[in-house]
Amino acid sequence: MDHHRSHALFARARELMPGGVNSPVRAFKSVGGEPFFAQRADGPFLFDVDGNRYIDFVGSWGPMVAGHNHPAVLEAVVRTARDGLSFGVPNPLEVTMAETIARLVPSCQMLRMVNSGTEATLSAIRLARGATGRARIVKFEGCYHGHGDSFLVKAGSGALTFGVPTSPGVPKALADLTLTLPYNDFDAATALFDECGGDIAGLIIEPVVGNANCLPPRPGFLQHLRELCTRHGTILIFDEVMTGFRVALGGAQARYGVTPDLTTFGKVIGGGMPVGAYGGRRDLMEQVSPSGPIYQAGTLSGNPVAMAAGLAMLELVQAPGFHNALEATSNALCDGLEAAARDAGVPFTSNRVGGMFGLFFSAEKVDTYAQAMACDVAAFNRFFHAMLERGVYLAPSAYEAGFVSSAHGDTEIATTIAAAREAFRVAKGG
Ligand code: PMP
Repeated sequence: MDHHRSHALFARARELMPGGVNSPVRAFKSVGGEPFFAQRADGPFLFDVDGNRYIDFVGSWGPMVAGHNHPAVLEAVVRTARDGLSFGVPNPLEVTMAETIARLVPSCQMLRMVNSGTEATLSAIRLARGATGRARIVKFEGCYHGHGDSFLVKAGSGALTFGVPTSPGVPKALADLTLTLPYNDFDAATALFDECGGDIAGLIIEPVVGNANCLPPRPGFLQHLRELCTRHGTILIFDEVMTGFRVALGGAQARYGVTPDLTTFGKVIGGGMPVGAYGGRRDLMEQVSPSGPIYQAGTLSGNPVAMAAGLAMLELVQAPGFHNALEATSNALCDGLEAAARDAGVPFTSNRVGGMFGLFFSAEKVDTYAQAMACDVAAFNRFFHAMLERGVYLAPSAYEAGFVSSAHGDTEIATTIAAAREAFRVAKGG
């Protein structure tokens, strides 16, 4: 594959942007080599500036649940943009968006739109602290909730890839207020709440972890957390930035039947535009400014073009059978990859939850952070590059989930599995 245009762009980018990128994982540091620069995207495909085509299993890290450049989303964006890009006063699409999310995710009795997942989680934790008058929060090892100071403690995604347990720049006094627990460990959660539950403002969790590869909750784990939080007066926050509208129409909370107090969203509800939201119990949300004293604001929040894109995307995911089809695609992909790995004699397993999946170079099933960390990263990296060379783009890190969309059809899955038959041999060779 020719990459000379991407290479030249990366050289320019590195002069002016840290690592040449605007978000760390894009730099391919974890897998080695250089990133490609996208020219355009369509359906299940990304096309780079050198004219190479990739079957894309990242989907802009989640929002492209109906595939890239869906005509309905594009049309909504163009139509809305013609009327102006930002008003700074309320617009009707914000109301429709709040109504739509509240209908699809009933625990969100009220909502506030923001501009990113990071803002959503920052705001949710401020609300939990403000509402309870407590300072401590709990998160789980390997979970990523954006780059807010309180969350960069044993965080996942890029923070994990680059081995930064707690980022420089986060004051120790603040980091000390973030307690971390191992995901899927019932007893550790019980013990922590027994010890200091009365001090914990909020517990935030990715109900299906997507930032330490893909880890589904053990049966009853989310229920257990719900009970602990209820008993100790702690606000339970589901970070559904990845899982929302992807693992089920009503998100992970619908799939696992557990109702959080607050939920954070991003990605899908922007259809690819910069958007986030947080919502939840009315009595909590009413404490947010201006109806209450807990301050949170945003010049571009509820941006009309972003709302239009998100609403078009939310229309698409409500099609009957949408999520069953998405899950069937994840299953076909992961079953095919497992078979190809077996034939190549490579220890390999996978997880799939709706339109999310995880690939593990491990002989054992994986559902804890420690197991995810113990996988053969070097083998994954060889596999990643061998797949890329064959026109398949996987998340460029062994610690990220993958995503399928409704645009990934049988042909793309078959092509991917055929590429993997060769790539597993390369992965083994190392
Ligand atoms: N929460 C989760 C679960 C995420 O996966 C991410 C981003 N990948 C965020 C929060 C932060 O979202 P953003 O990058 O839009 O700030």
